[in-house]
Amino acid sequence: METVSDLQTLRETVDELRQSGTIAMVPTMGALHEGHLTLVREAKRHADHVVASIFVNPTQFGPNEDLDAYPRQLAEDQAKLESEGTALLWAPDVAAMYPAGFATSISVSGVSEGLCGASRPGHFDGVATVVCKLFNQVRPDVALFGEKDWQQLAVIRRMARDLDLAFPLAGNIIGVPTVREADGLAMSSRNAYLSPEERASAARLSQTMREAIERIEAGKDVPATLGWLQSELVSAGFASIDYATLADADSLTPLLSAPTAPARLLVAARIGTTRLIDNMHVEGEAA
Ligand code: AMP
Repeated sequence: METVSDLQTLRETVDELRQSGTIAMVPTMGALHEGHLTLVREAKRHADHVVASIFVNPTQFGPNEDLDAYPRQLAEDQAKLESEGTALLWAPDVAAMYPAGFATSISVSGVSEGLCGASRPGHFDGVATVVCKLFNQVRPDVALFGEKDWQQLAVIRRMARDLDLAFPLAGNIIGVPTVREADGLAMSSRNAYLSPEERASAARLSQTMREAIERIEAGKDVPATLGWLQSELVSAGFASIDYATLADADSLTPLLSAPTAPARLLVAARIGTTRLIDNMHVEGEAA
């Protein structure tokens, strides 16, 4: 596996790869875990070559967020990607991605606005802009993203549709189900921030979400169930809840009563100084 960090070499290497087949892209911020590697494995099922990227994108971090602390472990990540058969790693630095004079931002309204968009202003502008650049740099036939970041997936699909992206086509943006630890905690590079005590409490996030979904699917009142979920999380040791929302799975419009179409329960909660997110499918009852 070759690692490339300048755009000219990337373009030449991708052109060579393209001569022998199709390309699937897996964008990441590194500190790779089994969730990321599952995306790589899935990518191999969709194309001949996998191009991964590692770029800790400063524009999607807020002023008081963890940009400087974000784990960086390039050598380990390279070994993991190589062992999964990745053809090429694109690992630009900040100056290559945002040269002096950089002045463009992509803002996707609607799906970007609630949930993480409300608690992290500007976050999805940073995500949409960098993902559009990554797509233009690599020009993949297919791109894979985790459902763990459900709103991010919705934002990227919306952007691809709205901007008529050709590489990849919006229909070739593939969501991959969340990979979890044995106790249900969604794998995340940020789990490394948790103390052993916090790590133990963090398991309650997905467990309590499952219980809440059972209640909603059994016809319990939605706002009351979401209130119960929040108080359970606080009792489990979470410091605060950014949101606990039942939303339409596609539009992300919040729902205040039992869904009639596929829905999603989405939660962002802080434990200590670490912000964890999770989301799960909720069955829509026949209308
Ligand atoms: P990140 O490095 O956190 O930006 O994530 C890179 C990609 O991996 C994104 O598409 C994430 O949604 C995906 N991802 C992160 N964690 C998981 C997970 N536990 N299961 C599946 N995909 C994940």
